[in-house]
Amino acid sequence: SKNAGRNCFNVYSPELKAEADQRNILEIELREAIWREEIEVFYQPVFELGTGHVKSVEALARWRHRTRGLIPPAEFIPVAEESGLIVELGNLVLAKACRHAVMMPDDIKVAVNLSALQFTGGNLVDSVMLALMDSGLAETRLELEITESVFLADSQDNLKTLERLKRLGVSIALDDFGVGYSSLSYLTAFPFNKVKIDKSFIDRIGRSETVAVLGSIVQLAKTLNLSIVAEGVETFEQVEKIRSLGIALGQGNFFSEPVPLGELLLQGFADSER
Ligand code: C2E
Ligand code: CA
Ligand code: CA
Ligand code: CA
Repeated sequence: SKNAGRNCFNVYSPELKAEADQRNILEIELREAIWREEIEVFYQPVFELGTGHVKSVEALARWRHRTRGLIPPAEFIPVAEESGLIVELGNLVLAKACRHAVMMPDDIKVAVNLSALQFTGGNLVDSVMLALMDSGLAETRLELEITESVFLADSQDNLKTLERLKRLGVSIALDDFGVGYSSLSYLTAFPFNKVKIDKSFIDRIGRSETVAVLGSIVQLAKTLNLSIVAEGVETFEQVEKIRSLGIALGQGNFFSEPVPLGELLLQGFADSER
């Protein structure tokens, strides 16, 4: 009967409703924050281990909330992806990062994270060209970080977009490498410039199995002419291990946490204090 059907959906709970309300408020506030450009960009340097020089910086989004302070991406990127706001948010970060990069030395690249949804939900190639033209940044100084998720949905179209981006002259990095289990095949699916080894590997670098796996990744990367970055490096022991494996680049809180542009420009681009 009508009543029984209605009862089936009668799962009202004050907790669930409060959670949904909070999420809706967050989404409305996020839309407004993007509109007001209150999404800030922090930068985390990537160091060449042999010289101690910064080779690039990764742009990482932060939300400057009027009452809640600085909100980390873990809290708003999922909301942005579920609501589709990630396209606008991604374009804002891209535009800001390019404008900021022209204030950095010209041998430093800026890396911007892309969501798979930016490949399907917006005109990514146009957005990238616009950000470059608007800032005057040389295309060779922009690096785009993607994850395997780009290959999962609409993979043929996304691959074409990726090829068009590479033809613009920007570099393409494969992020969070090793997290998914078909990672190795993706390395040969596209001519990446760089591969970023996920922090979870670096955390386990004390184990001989990890060293063996990383050793073969380094070999493969060399064959494919890819540069390799170790992500989330936190200790000196990890630095020594990654160096001995032949990984040339390192990023992580051991070297520097993500910092605002002003601080990055002040701290300079060499690890003179270490
Ligand atoms: P990711 O791209 O893998 O970025 C690296 C994350 O690891 C950053 O977290 C960084 O602060 C953190 N990290 C770096 N070194 C260390 C370390 O030594 N120890 C620890 N515990 N963490 C370290 P963050 O800034 O919170 O960003 C988290 C994720 O949010 C990023 O992971 C990325 O997937 C996403 N994200 C951030 N900004 C953007 C953006 O503008 N667009 C998109 N699509 N995603 C973004
Ligand atoms: Ca990244
Ligand atoms: Ca990563
Ligand atoms: Ca990640």
